[in-house]
Amino acid sequence: MVIIGAGMIGACLARELATQGIRRVTVLEKRSGPGLEATAASWAWLNANNKSPLAYQRLNYQGLRLWQTDSLLSSLSDFTGTLFLRDETGLDDVVSPQPDFIQVEKLPRDAAILHALEPNLSPFAVSDQVASCPRLYPEEGYCDPVAACAGILRAAQDLGVTVNYDEAVETIRVTADGRQIMVGTRSDTYTADRVILAGGTEVQALSKSLGYEIPMLHRPGILVHTNPTETRVQKRIVVAPSCYMLQRRDGTVVVGGDFNGASQRDDEEDTSAERAQRMLDAAGEIMPVVSEDLGVGHVTLGNRPYPADGLPVIGWLPGKEDLVYVTVMHSGITLAPIAARLGVKQLMDRLSPDEIRVLQDYTASRNELHHTNAQGQYDMQYHGPNHGTTSK
Ligand SMILES: Cc1cc2nc3c(=O)[nH]c(=O)nc-3n(C[C@H](O)[C@H](O)[C@H](O)COP(=O)(O)OP(=O)(O)OC[C@H]3O[C@@H](n4cnc5c(N)ncnc54)[C@H](O)[C@@H]3O)c2cc1C
Repeated sequence: MVIIGAGMIGACLARELATQGIRRVTVLEKRSGPGLEATAASWAWLNANNKSPLAYQRLNYQGLRLWQTDSLLSSLSDFTGTLFLRDETGLDDVVSPQPDFIQVEKLPRDAAILHALEPNLSPFAVSDQVASCPRLYPEEGYCDPVAACAGILRAAQDLGVTVNYDEAVETIRVTADGRQIMVGTRSDTYTADRVILAGGTEVQALSKSLGYEIPMLHRPGILVHTNPTETRVQKRIVVAPSCYMLQRRDGTVVVGGDFNGASQRDDEEDTSAERAQRMLDAAGEIMPVVSEDLGVGHVTLGNRPYPADGLPVIGWLPGKEDLVYVTVMHSGITLAPIAARLGVKQLMDRLSPDEIRVLQDYTASRNELHHTNAQGQYDMQYHGPNHGTTSK
């Protein structure tokens, strides 16, 4: 088995395969180390609140639960809960309805209570102007995505998986008898019974080269990483209307401003010092210590692997069933463990009837993924078999 890509998805797949006894696995990664593309540029929030449709929210919740319950994954992540100062509805006092499996605590608009949860919040942050509808999602967490990806891959390697870095896959083709796949890099050719495309944004080009293009959207995202500090300046993940921030184990605070890159702002790929300072200033309005004491360390710009309808692709590549499997998704840090678990079960033909139903929404051939509007752009309407029509 060959896995193309050593990001979070490839790492979780490699470990899951090895755990299930499939150890003749080679991961091919074009970069010099694990998780250096989208994974490195990720905020790496492990969350499931306010996602739609419902089945997708449940899938995220299952991912979150695996991060919490798997002994390796839980050692690589922290679960502090997320403090939202304002609800997604944008309406004061109205908390968007969440399904039963999501824990949410609506908080009183009380500065003392909010300060007890997050001591460094500014007076402005706890004012009615910002904290118009505060609430806590107590189960949520985060990880350092590159460290976590490296730890998961190491575990896979300990179980026998081979990981080859600086190996960019250039060609993939089916053998003449249709039974195997030849994966060509500049220096080598790998023959495999099955190949998993886990190349993040490059899955579009890789799938196209195999005759079935997975359409994806361009969804860039910038994060500002502060200089590290030994002090815990932040107790929880904080989401404010203008910015969001969390403090990683290494002491850096990571600040972002746009969750899915759909805002189409002019400056969405602007990594200049001025832009970084503006983002830090926005964070400083919520937690002054972030801008006053820490300052900008570095900025990352990444492209989210974003299938055109916003939902994951987890399944066989149409026309290459039993040979080429595809795993590409946004929210892939949260989702990687559950995507890997379901994907490996499908590869091993061990899905339960319920799991088969779950994966029906994520096939590469679902109509919604290929649906374009009158301008020829992919639209973001989801009409999966389990949910009727839902706008994402
Ligand atoms: C700004 C931003 C914020 C995000 N925030 C969150 C968040 O808070 N929570 C969350 O869950 N998700 C978040 N995401 C999404 C998440 O980071 C991704 O969904 C996840 O990292 C995808 O992992 P991956 O392994 O599919 O992709 P990648 O990490 O990109 O890994 C793919 C790997 O494949 C390799 N590769 C590609 N082509 C080839 C080839 N031809 N040959 C060999 N190797 C190849 C690449 O070098 C890369 O290392 C965010 C993403 C961004 C950009």
